Formats: sequence, structure tokens, C-alpha cells
Amino acid sequence: MTVYIVGAGPGDPGLLTVRAAELLAAADVVVHDRLVDVRVLARARPGARLVDVGKSPGDGAEPQDGIDALLVELGRAGGTVVRLKGGDPYVFGRGGEEALALAGAGVAYEVVPGVTAAVAVPACAGVPVTTRGVASGFAVVTGHDAASADASVDWELLARSGCTVVVLMGVAARAEIARRLVAAGRDPSTPVVAVERGATPEQRTVRTTLGALGATPVESPATIVVGEVAALGLSSYEQRPLAGWRVLVTRAADQGAALADRLASLGARPVELPVIEIVDPADGGAALREAATRAGAFEWVVVASSNAADRLLDAVRDARSLAGTKVAAIGPATAAALARRGIVADLVPSRYLGEALAAEFPPPPGRGARVLLARASVSRDVVPDALRDAGWEVEVVDAYETRPVELSPERLDAVRGAHAVTFASPSAVSAFLATAGRDRVPGVVVTIGPVTSAAVREAGVEVTAEAAEHTAEGIVTALVSHAATVAG
Ligand code: SAH
Repeated sequence: MTVYIVGAGPGDPGLLTVRAAELLAAADVVVHDRLVDVRVLARARPGARLVDVGKSPGDGAEPQDGIDALLVELGRAGGTVVRLKGGDPYVFGRGGEEALALAGAGVAYEVVPGVTAAVAVPACAGVPVTTRGVASGFAVVTGHDAASADASVDWELLARSGCTVVVLMGVAARAEIARRLVAAGRDPSTPVVAVERGATPEQRTVRTTLGALGATPVESPATIVVGEVAALGLSSYEQRPLAGWRVLVTRAADQGAALADRLASLGARPVELPVIEIVDPADGGAALREAATRAGAFEWVVVASSNAADRLLDAVRDARSLAGTKVAAIGPATAAALARRGIVADLVPSRYLGEALAAEFPPPPGRGARVLLARASVSRDVVPDALRDAGWEVEVVDAYETRPVELSPERLDAVRGAHAVTFASPSAVSAFLATAGRDRVPGVVVTIGPVTSAAVREAGVEVTAEAAEHTAEGIVTALVSHAATVAG
């Protein structure tokens, strides 16, 4: 059995290596440090045991010997053990010591290098650690023991080198570090950049000089860069369109994750609050399965949502039974769900509304022409009523049920401090209001379309922005446009 010593990168899950993501997805146990971002841990296999061996000052810290012994024990027990460490495991992570302990105990291990904060954090703040003609090298040092007389780092040598100096773990000793570099000849006006919580939505960049560093407030964890490159200000994570935004995602868990990832990639801190869950309809799906066996007997099958599309196609045993049947999808997300299963919708109404579908639906070819409508069990009757009025025989089948979920007090806590909430269905609106209450609705409300907006307004809450394209991506676009107007 192998223990994988894996680098987690500096924070952004997008900066995990492919190998790290694969191992996390397969892990039985993940032993991680305190600094590893929650969104990285969220990539662990559901059901994996997460062990936090984080060392934070004064919390009865688990000593390194204990971590080494734990890794040996887990390695011997078998399964896939991932030792997840911030950045690169062999850059000040004590990963080397852990590897030696495993080797000493005869436990097989493999290292998976990671993106180190030393280089990536400055980059995410718009500072390249080398630049032709400005700095032709960089040194990465720990600031940890700068204040002690027997400091292992030769600050005098660094001062003379002309290289960029990247200091990790240097926040507490920054005044002493600056003093030593200046005493050894570095100009006090040398630019310095300190990047707090780099490569995360909370990234904050502090620009100062060597002379002023000691008196400049900086919060840990931070990466400090000393040198002329620190004056450069290339594109930074802090300029991303949704930087600084905490956004609530109220979709059911499996669909919420994709929206959350997309928001995060634009710099937001998404908070997933699955206030609804998608479950079998009351009959356990029996009617849907039965209707699916007769799908070929209908002139049209109308699919009301992407959930309905997935559930219906799960129930269809042989796709060829739909060969003679036309398929309509209400909304582009529904059409996309069908397309993923190899079905190109014959009709997608111009607007994501039952009314639009009914208006754009062809007339029945003759008496007794039949439509099967697959939808959520509690739905408006706009579509079946309008189709019946037009002369169709309509059979409605419940494909799934949307159920509200009570949020735990801890999850509700996460609602506080959110800047925006996103709603992708009227059921999410009512479920959110039921569990969180009107007072907890953030100042900015973004909806997927007019039906959801109407549900928000009915509750007496104002809609800030509505998606033009009624998909998750449309929600993101609407929020980004709004954020741009606020930023001025
Ligand atoms: N192995 C890690 C470094 C561990 S030492 C790596 O390769 O990145 C921990 C120090 O790294 C912190 O004290 C801080 O100086 C720096 N650091 C780690 N993550 C950081 C982040 N997201 N933003 C800023 N600095 C970070």
C-alpha cells in the first residue's frame, strides 16, 4: 500500500495538479494541514475520512512525530492514503521528514509535487518573481527564525545577491527581516509586496517598501516578496469580475456544485446551500417507468426541466423507442440535458416559459394526437391546459419531486455576510425563505428567469438581476454585469 504525499497548491482548486485531483477523488483517508482550502478538500471522495493535523499556534498542536506515526499506521492499514499539504509538499512542508519516516518504517510512498505558494501567490497578485532585466533569479526562504541569533538564512548574502527574495512564514518577523536586509545594503526604498491568502477569493495585496515593511499591517498567511519585481502590477486575482463576492448557491447539491465552481473561477467565494433536493415522485417513479415503455406511442414528448430529462431518459430502456416521437424541451438547460443523452430537441421555445411553449407548439395533426409531459410533481398547469385547449390529448407524468431541505444552524451561519443569492427555480425561493427567513436574504438577488423572479417578488423581495439566457451560465452573466455596475 502506498501513502501519497500530495501538494494541494496555494488555495484555488484550479491549481491542483490533475494527479492530485485524481488521488483525492479516490482517497479513503486524507490527512491534511490547516492551510488546505475547503474547496480543495471538497474534491475528496464523498465518504473519505478527513483528518486535520493542522498546526495552528497554541492549539495544543499535534507534534510532527505524531503525524509521522499516524501516516505509518494508515499506510500499513491499507487503502488509499493521501497526505495533503499546502503548496508543494517539499517546500517547507516537512514533507521530506514524513517521506523519511515512511521509508524508515518500510511503508511505500509516492510524492506528487504541487504548485508552490512561493511562485504562484506572487503571480496571482500580478508579480512575476523573475523578469528579464529586473531580476534574474529568486530565493525562497523561511522568515520563521529571522529573529534568532543562529538564523539559518544568510540575509546578508541575500541582500547582496540582487535576486528577488520570497519569504514564507515571515509575517511575524517582517520587521527583523527588513532590518537585516537594509543593514546588509538593500535600499530601504526597495519595493515589497505582501500577499495575504493568495490564490483564494479573499486574496489581499499590500504594497509597501522595505523601509516601511515592519510598520505595515500584514496578516498571516502571507507571502512576502522583496525586490524590484514587486513594483510590477500585472493582472491579479483581485481584478477578477466577482472578486470579493460571497454568493449563495441554493440549487440542489449536484447541480449547485457546477454553478459554484463557475462562480469561483470568476473570483467569487460561493457558499453552497442546497435548500432543495430532487427525489423520486410519490409513486417511486412507477408511472414514469410505465409511461416510458409507451413513449413511442406519443406524437410529442415535452420535457419540462433538465431533471425531468435525466429521469425520463433513465426510464427509457431503448432510445430507439423514441425514434418516431418528437421531443420538446422547455429551456436551453433542458435541451442541453437531452443533448447529453444524444437527443436533439425538435422544439425549444424562444423563452423559457410554459406559456411560450404552448404558443409555439404546432397544432395536432388530427383527433386523438397525444403528448406526454414529464415534469416535477408540483408544477403549474399552464402547459397541459394550453395544449389541451389547442386540441392535444395530454398525459402528465411526475418525473421527480423537489423537496425543501432544512439547513443546520451552522449552514445558516454561512448566509450571514453573503453579498448575493442565486435562485434557479421557484421551489428554491420558497425553500430558502422557509429555512433562512426573509431577513437573511442578501442585498443582491439574481434569478434564472421570469417565473423564478415572480416567486421572489411574491415574497416581497426585490430582484436585482434576471438571467437573459435561462441557464446557470445566464445567472453568472447577470451577476457579473451587476458587479461591474457596482464597481463603477
Ligand atoms: N509547502 C507550502 C509552504 C508551506 S509554509 C508551499 O509550497 O506553498 C506556509 C507558508 O506559505 C505560509 O506561512 C505563507 O507564508 C505561505 N503560504 C501558503 N499558502 C499561502 C497563500 N494562499 N497565500 C499566501 N501565502 C501562503
